[in-house]
Amino acid sequence: MAENRTVPDVDRAAASRRALERRRARASLKRDLAMRVTAPQAVLRQAFEDADSDAATMRVTDFLMALPAIGAGKRDRVLEDLGISPVKRLGGLGVRQRAALTAWLDERFPPHRPREGRSRLLVLAGPTAVGKGTVAAHIRETNPDLHLSVSATTRSPRPGEVDGVHYYFLDEAEFDRLIEEGQLLEYATVHNKHRYGTPRGPVDEALAQGKTVLLEIDLQGARQVRESEPSASLVFLLPPTWDELVNRLVGRGTEDSEERARRLRTARTELAAQSEFDYLVVNADVATAARDVVELSSGSAR
Ligand code: 5GP
Repeated sequence: MAENRTVPDVDRAAASRRALERRRARASLKRDLAMRVTAPQAVLRQAFEDADSDAATMRVTDFLMALPAIGAGKRDRVLEDLGISPVKRLGGLGVRQRAALTAWLDERFPPHRPREGRSRLLVLAGPTAVGKGTVAAHIRETNPDLHLSVSATTRSPRPGEVDGVHYYFLDEAEFDRLIEEGQLLEYATVHNKHRYGTPRGPVDEALAQGKTVLLEIDLQGARQVRESEPSASLVFLLPPTWDELVNRLVGRGTEDSEERARRLRTARTELAAQSEFDYLVVNADVATAARDVVELSSGSAR
C-alpha cells in the first residue's frame, strides 16, 4: 500500500519540476521576443513543427504580448480579427489560424531578408558584449588571407595590447589630423568616451589586392560605412538568447544597479538596429559564428 502512494508522489514531483522548467523556458523565450533576439516567425515555426516544444505550449495571448509594442488592446483586436480564441496555445492553432497569424506577423514584423550579392568589404557590428572582438580575433587566426582592419583610437592601450596590431593608439590631436585629412573611412565616439576610427588606406589597399576586409566597429561606424560604401555587407552579431547577453553584460555583478540598468537599456536599443543590417549571425559558438561571417563574403568558398 505504501508503495502505491509513494510512486504517484514521485511522479507528481517530477511533473511539477517539468512544469516549472517549461514555465522558465517560456519566460526566457518571451524575453527573446521582447528584445528582438528571436524573430516571432521563428518561434511560430518551432511551435508548428514540434508539438512538444516550449514554443508550442505558449499561450497565444502571451506570445502576442511579448512582441515589441503590442499591448492588451492590440492583442485582443488581433485575436478577434484572426478568429483565434485567447485560450489557445500556439501548438493548438488550426491550419487556417496558423496561416492567418503568420501573415499578420509578416506584415507587422517583416522577416529579415538577406540582400542579393555579396561584397568583400564586411562590417561586423552588434550589441555591446555580444562577443564581436572574440569572433573577429578568431576570424583573423583562422583566415590569414582575410584583412582585419586595425582601428585608430584615442583610448590608452590595455595590458598586452600592441600599437599597430590591436589598435593604432593616438592622441586627440593625431586623431583630429586623420579626420581633417580625410583618412578615416568612418569614426565615432564610443560609450561617450574615446574616439575610434577606421584608417581608409589599408582597407583600400587590401581590397585592391582582392582580399576580403573585415571591420569590427560599433553601430554608428557601421551606419557611416553603409552611407559611404553602399555595397559593403553589414553583419549583425546576435546573442543566442537575451538571458545570455545579460549574463555577458552584467554577469560579474560588479556594477551598481543604475549601471546595470543603463547597460541593459543600451543593449535593447542596439538590438533594435538589427533591421538595418544585411545579415544576422548568432554567436552561440565562436568558431561557428566566425565561419558564418566569413562565408558571407564574396571571396569565400561557399
Ligand atoms: P574596445 O575599447 O573595448 O577595444 O572597443 C570598444 C568599442 O569600440 C567596440 O564596440 C568596438 O566595436 C568599437 N570600435 C573599435 N574600433 C572601431 C572603429 O574603428 N570604429 C568604430 N566606429 N568603432 C570601433
